[in-house]
Amino acid sequence: MKKVKLENKEFTVGKIVCVGRNYAKHAEELGNEVPEFPLIFLKPASVLIHSGDKIIHPLYSDEMHYEAELVLLITEQIKNADSEEALKAIGGYAVGLDMTLRDIQSKLKAKGHPWTLAKVFDGSAAVGDFVSAEKFNPTFEEFIELKLNGETRQKSQLKNMIFKPAGIVKYISEKMTLEEGDLIFTGTPAGVGRTVPGDRLEASVNGLPVLSVEVTA
Ligand code: MG
Repeated sequence: MKKVKLENKEFTVGKIVCVGRNYAKHAEELGNEVPEFPLIFLKPASVLIHSGDKIIHPLYSDEMHYEAELVLLITEQIKNADSEEALKAIGGYAVGLDMTLRDIQSKLKAKGHPWTLAKVFDGSAAVGDFVSAEKFNPTFEEFIELKLNGETRQKSQLKNMIFKPAGIVKYISEKMTLEEGDLIFTGTPAGVGRTVPGDRLEASVNGLPVLSVEVTA
């Protein structure tokens, strides 16, 4: 079982719910429309890794992409939450990486098939250390940034998210029960790109611990 820590409490990770196309410029860079509702997909908890771990590049892809994202930790069970309940259910925040096999995803999209094999592989969800919602209360002025081998590749402000955390949690809770230990990846800004073995990825959001992982063969 995969665990995440929030201060002194440990949570067993349940499902990982991801939002796609939540920054208009990223939707544009991949030739997608800006969505009317959050675009949702899932990853199993078994793919989760932490800062300091390594991402093994799958052999069956030639185009693994980084996607830096703000991650929410759900700390209470909710269903059909209103905005206030949704916000209250977010117990902590971290920086994450939604690793994506873009070549596989393009083939699946072309056939109208689910993205599962492009999004689900060991190490495809990475998280930094979580900070409690009492200590990190986003103003959305914060910058989210991804550095590849020390060079900035993604940089945007959280205010550019189309759907904000409370709205995302509210929407998901209308479709499925959210439980303590579920994680929500809230989408990536523009600047996604390829990463290869030997690369160092560092993702950050002002006020949260940096997430640092290495890509290996
Ligand atoms: Mg993503």
